[in-house]
Amino acid sequence: MICYLYPEPSYFFFISDAPGLLYYSHIPAALLALFIGFFIYLNNPRILLNKLLLVISLCFASWTFVNLVLWTNIHSDFLLFLWPFLGVFSSLISIFSIYFTYVFLEKKDITLKLKTFLFLLVTPVLIFAPTNLSVTGFNITNCDAFGYEGTLFKFYYIALGIIALIWIPIILFRKYLQSTSQDKKQILLMGFGLEFFLFSFFTMTFIASYLAGIGYLEDSRLEMYGLFGMTVFIVFIGILMAKFKTFSIGLIASQGLVVALIVLVGSQLTYINSKTGIVLSAITLILTGVVGVILIRTIKKDAKQKEQIEKLAVNLKSANIRLKQVDKLKSEFVSIASHQLRSPITSISGYASLIREGNYGEVTTKMKEPLERIEQSARMMASSIEDYLNVSRIESGYMKYNNSDFNLAEEVEHVSDDLRSEALKSGLILLFKKRLESKGIVNADIGKIQQIIHNLINNAIKYTPKGTITVFVQDNLKNKLITVDVLDTGIGMDEETLHSIFQKFERGDKANAVNVKGTGLGLYVALKMTEAMHGRITAYSEGEGKGSRFTVELPLQM
Ligand code: ADP
Repeated sequence: MICYLYPEPSYFFFISDAPGLLYYSHIPAALLALFIGFFIYLNNPRILLNKLLLVISLCFASWTFVNLVLWTNIHSDFLLFLWPFLGVFSSLISIFSIYFTYVFLEKKDITLKLKTFLFLLVTPVLIFAPTNLSVTGFNITNCDAFGYEGTLFKFYYIALGIIALIWIPIILFRKYLQSTSQDKKQILLMGFGLEFFLFSFFTMTFIASYLAGIGYLEDSRLEMYGLFGMTVFIVFIGILMAKFKTFSIGLIASQGLVVALIVLVGSQLTYINSKTGIVLSAITLILTGVVGVILIRTIKKDAKQKEQIEKLAVNLKSANIRLKQVDKLKSEFVSIASHQLRSPITSISGYASLIREGNYGEVTTKMKEPLERIEQSARMMASSIEDYLNVSRIESGYMKYNNSDFNLAEEVEHVSDDLRSEALKSGLILLFKKRLESKGIVNADIGKIQQIIHNLINNAIKYTPKGTITVFVQDNLKNKLITVDVLDTGIGMDEETLHSIFQKFERGDKANAVNVKGTGLGLYVALKMTEAMHGRITAYSEGEGKGSRFTVELPLQM
């Protein structure tokens, strides 16, 4: 049947006396959507986000085409056939916009559960579109089906639009709160663009068709403005594309797109003849132009920055190589120097000791003290050299560990016994205690463990002017751990010192002040060794002057 009151359109929808705004609002928006959808998709078809944008663009363009035909065509049977597609396409726009937002935010596909849920949401529309729940009849006088649209069907696809309008900002907002500032900008741009599009599309079209439906508005002119939301969305997509590479498209391509958009919008001026059309077109052109210039500027800036960063990266790489060479040289030097120093210093201390003990003839009491000093200094130097050698071994990866099962408490007790006389010399009491539920067996390098414990007790002696040193071994069967605590009543440490003492060459300020000699390497070596034996070493102090506690923790062999 044909609606005789109206002229027959050419190409389904071209009639000469249609409102000018009708074509201006529909055609450029649809063309822009298709253009950007295909452009982004073809640039990188494998990316899911690009595919989804294409689907949204296709649905939007199809909706626009159907709507144009409904406005202008006069073949009632054809119109009746097309009418339900408005609902189908707008529902698809809602559902795919939600899907698109998820992929944009999470940078990966959504779960099957969510996909099924979204599909189930849209299914009623697909099922009932061809039935008379969708459109029941046609008004041949007015050439429309407004009064015959199924309320339930219409209500449902409007509801889908509202769901998308609410759902999208909620997930955007949730992600926004946890994002970095760069991501925040992207979320704002995409969120604003998409919401503006959906809001203008749904509210304008629905309100307009509702008003027309109840006969309040003669033609749904309002509806036409709604479609401009798509252009705004596209402008935002353009910014995201160029500035943040959201769709993984190169700089040159984005630049090309901006130019193409300007040409596309500008070209409308040549065929639009209504006044409103020209004004709107000019405004859009100016807007696109401004955004275009900003985009091209940012693109250029980005390219320049990229170039600078690349240059810097090359410089950094060569500097890094040089540094590594220097570091290697340094380690080799330390290692060679230490090896060469070790034997003479051992003989110095050995001979001094022999002389002092009278092996080379009578030694006067006057000579005994300087000889003792020589011996002590030589021993200290030997221990420093040992520290340097250990560091060099650790750093070059040549430190060897001969692990075996042994009784930790016994070894710790031996070391404590060895050092007790030295503690006494400084007026300190050294106590050893243990509380064990297991046999206290660990799998580690016996020599290294002795060295670590020796170092900790030695430090406690060095940094405790008066009081007691307690060495305490205990096990924890639940956590399968055994710990050695070395507690002292010495100079203690503040927070800042506590944080730095395990680093190479780090010595506390107080350590220098009490004039205790040291290299600042002992704890570093102890830490590295303990870690290599799957243990942990920690330090604790309540503050300066309040003593310290060093704890070595090792896995217990059960
Ligand atoms: P060194 O003792 O040769 O300086 P270490 O690596 O053994 O080097 O120790 C690093 C720093 O940790 C020391 O300079 C000192 O400031 C602090 N320190 C270590 N043990 C103690 C302790 N028992 N009491 C207070 N400070 C300590």
